Amino acid sequence: MVETTCRLDRAVAVITFANPPVNGLSHAVRAGIATALERAQADAAVRAIVLTGAGSLFSGGADIREFGTPASTADPTLHRLIELVEAGPKPVIAAIAGTCLGGGFELALSAHYRVAAADARLGLPEVKLGLIPGAGGTQRLPRLIGAERALDMIVTGEPVTASALATTPLLNRIVKGDPVAAAVELAESPDVIGRRPPARVRDLPFVEPRLAALCEAARARLQSGRPPLPAPHRAVDAVEAAALPFDQGLAVERRAFVELMASPESRGLRHAFFAERAATKVDGITPATPVRPLNEAAVVGAGAMGAAIAVALLDAGLPVWVLETDQAALDRGRERIAGIYDGQVKKGKLAAEERDRRLARLRPTLSVESLAQADVAIEAVFESLEVKRDVFLALDRTMKPGAVLATNTSTLDVDAIAGFTRRPSDVLGLHFFSPANVMRLLEVVRGRATAPDALATALSLGKALRKVTVVAGVGDGFIGNRMLEGYTKQAWYLVEEGATPVQVDRAIEAFGFAMGPFRVGDLVGHDVSLAVPAPAADQLIAEHRAELGIVPRQVSDDEIVDRLVYALVNEGARILEEGIAAQASDIDVVYLTGYGFPRARGGPMFYADEVGLGRVVERVREFAGHRHGDPGCWTPAPLLERLAREGRRFDSV
Ligand code: NAD
Repeated sequence: MVETTCRLDRAVAVITFANPPVNGLSHAVRAGIATALERAQADAAVRAIVLTGAGSLFSGGADIREFGTPASTADPTLHRLIELVEAGPKPVIAAIAGTCLGGGFELALSAHYRVAAADARLGLPEVKLGLIPGAGGTQRLPRLIGAERALDMIVTGEPVTASALATTPLLNRIVKGDPVAAAVELAESPDVIGRRPPARVRDLPFVEPRLAALCEAARARLQSGRPPLPAPHRAVDAVEAAALPFDQGLAVERRAFVELMASPESRGLRHAFFAERAATKVDGITPATPVRPLNEAAVVGAGAMGAAIAVALLDAGLPVWVLETDQAALDRGRERIAGIYDGQVKKGKLAAEERDRRLARLRPTLSVESLAQADVAIEAVFESLEVKRDVFLALDRTMKPGAVLATNTSTLDVDAIAGFTRRPSDVLGLHFFSPANVMRLLEVVRGRATAPDALATALSLGKALRKVTVVAGVGDGFIGNRMLEGYTKQAWYLVEEGATPVQVDRAIEAFGFAMGPFRVGDLVGHDVSLAVPAPAADQLIAEHRAELGIVPRQVSDDEIVDRLVYALVNEGARILEEGIAAQASDIDVVYLTGYGFPRARGGPMFYADEVGLGRVVERVREFAGHRHGDPGCWTPAPLLERLAREGRRFDSV
């Protein structure tokens, strides 16, 4: 429940604000705090004020549900609230537990004292949304922790623990457990209560002789970013401006914040953020949908995928059965799993004892009967309907009622697989991406008969595995791989027409993709390593063109980007129209988390919306007229045409 309470602890007013789940600073919360503050300031019995968040956390920052709505800028704004705290005649102590991020941290920075639990996490993550802190964070934080650490926190957006800030004056006390009692105690100390007016962070001198050098170094570190993003640079500028008189610095910060808010990169990043949240809301699943127990898992087939899926399950703390066909394959599977962990230990990412603990939960077996009591089985055997049929017949015979039976198939019909069993409502697809223990994306494939509680259980498993889950309907390639086909084909056609593989990769990487299609091909295995500029590859391409009678032409980077991206968009429109994806933003999430699409561009569908669907259709028609007209790829999807005609966007569907 959203509420702000105030209780009097002797001469200290303790103001506690609540707005589950993260005490976001919505308009109602800001108004509640402002009212409580004004009352406490006016109350002669109150000599100091403690400000804290309910539910063992301070605040996650702005209330994202309010983003972009009039409520986000309604009075009292966060600026006003900060002024009330900082300029008030009575000392305010922020008591910080759990999370203290963004606007929440900026509010805490405006208090006169801060007391934090040692494990509280403090940070200014605005750059992750293409923004910078907009309520004084870039000006107050350097005054408290110095330019070097402030730059680090603001430019990376990564939070740090209170104990890691122990050597700075940011936190007046660091305590184990609940900070409120310690804050009240501090408030009552004569130093604090007797100090009028209380010391304000904005009045602290900011002297850093190395400021210019530190900022230059920070800018140099940002050069490797691709494509270059404006927010981290503006963050450096703002911290540099902290050397100016406070209000001037604040104005520099404000200007940057407002400009960034309108930047395409921030629009893309904010869309990506909301799209991931929207993907968790699934048609027919409500908080009341029951979730089946998930205490024991099984993986069938310990090849490349099965082994990594087992690791993901072990990482989540589950005991995991791994079933193979013969001892040699089982041993190889076990070695694969141990090998993944050994690699992590070698890189210092995992303690050897933790590896041992996780491996102790692994239960290799050759008997399907061992899986009888598992709550979920994930099949990752060869991509053959016959082989999968045998596996699902055996699982159906053996597994307890209510177990979720999942297939990791990439291309096969999940409904057909469900049809092998007498319990199709328990069957669904869990399409992992390679390497399954690393990649964030998990496509959850909902079959015709999949029961809502089986689906809810799969979503809950995805959460336990810390995956981003997107629900897809049954269809060849689901969402991601189906779209990839046209993209990859265009890459090859472009080479045939005159581009080099290197040019194709460079153009799409300059657009922001993590890796171009030919480098990806090299990684997963081409017969010929085409992406390495090699005379042998050039020779092969030249011969191939001559064979087809193609005279190579100059291909522009713009054409490369448009053909690769619009191939995705046009197929995405079909997927949306067929209901394989429930909303355009789900397609964006798949490409952002599974295929290296640049996050700052928001995903293929959002990118197309931003370009304008009319322009996209124009280009698609243009490409249809090329030598490689490729009607499969370039016949405009009816949905795309209709939206373009109506001047609408994909996100309006
Ligand atoms: P793989 O050939 O590496 O492994 C398959 C394993 O299954 C082998 O170890 C084999 O011994 C075992 N197996 C075969 N029949 C079995 C049975 N009846 N019972 C128990 N084990 C059996 O294959 P992979 O690349 O791990 O792919 C497995 C599945 O995952 C396929 O359906 C594939 O389409 C899908 N998939 C693969 C990828 C990828 O990038 N490789 C990505 C997503 C999904």
